[in-house]
Amino acid sequence: MKELHNRILKDGHALSETVLKVDSFLNHQVDPNLMYEMGTYFKNYFKEHEITKIFTIESSGIAPAVMTAMQMNLPMVTLKKQSSKILNGDVYQTTVHSFTKAMDYELTLSKKYITAEDRILIIDDFLANGEAALGAARLVEEAGAQVAGIGIVIEKSFQPGRKVLEDKGYEVYSLARIAKLGEGLIEFVE
Ligand code: 5GP
Repeated sequence: MKELHNRILKDGHALSETVLKVDSFLNHQVDPNLMYEMGTYFKNYFKEHEITKIFTIESSGIAPAVMTAMQMNLPMVTLKKQSSKILNGDVYQTTVHSFTKAMDYELTLSKKYITAEDRILIIDDFLANGEAALGAARLVEEAGAQVAGIGIVIEKSFQPGRKVLEDKGYEVYSLARIAKLGEGLIEFVE
C-alpha cells in the first residue's frame, strides 16, 4: 500500500533493528483517513472470503479493524488483554507472549460474540513472531469457528511471524512488509 509505505518512511522511527515506532499515525495518535484507506485494501483483498466478523486485538488493531468492518458491513470484536485468568465459563482465554512488553497476557473473548458458523478475519497492527495472531486464531478455533484470513498493517518480514502463520495454513495479507530496520533505515520487501 503506497500511501502506507510513504507514511512509514516519513513518520516511522526504527527504535532498534527489531522495533518500529509509528506513534504519530497508528499506535498513539491515529490518522483516520489512512485507516479508512487500509480498510479499503483489506476489504478488496478479502471480499471473496465469506467473512462474517472481524476480530482484532486491543488496542492498536482497533482503528484499522473498525474501518475494515465498516466497509465490509460486518461486526468487529476486540479481543481483550487481561492480566489474569477469568474463572467462569463465559469466555474463551489463551495465554499470549507480548513481543513489545516481554510479558504474558490472557487474550480473552466472550462466548457471546462467536458461533461455530463464523468465518473470522483477524486484523492486527504489527506482525513480529506471530504470537498475537496465533492466540487470536486459537480462540476462534476453540469456538469451532474458522480463521478465514489474517490482515496485518505492518509485517516485519525479517521476523518469523508470516512463516509461523502460513505453516499453520493461514492466509496472511500485509499492507506493508519491512525487510530491514536499523538506525535511520527502513527497507521494504521488493
Ligand atoms: P507478535 O505477536 O507477532 O510477536 O507481535 C505483534 C504484536 O506486538 C502487535 O500486536 C504489536 O502490538 C506488537 N509489535 C510487534 N512489533 C512491533 C513493532 O515493531 N512496533 C510496534 N509499535 N508494535 C509492535
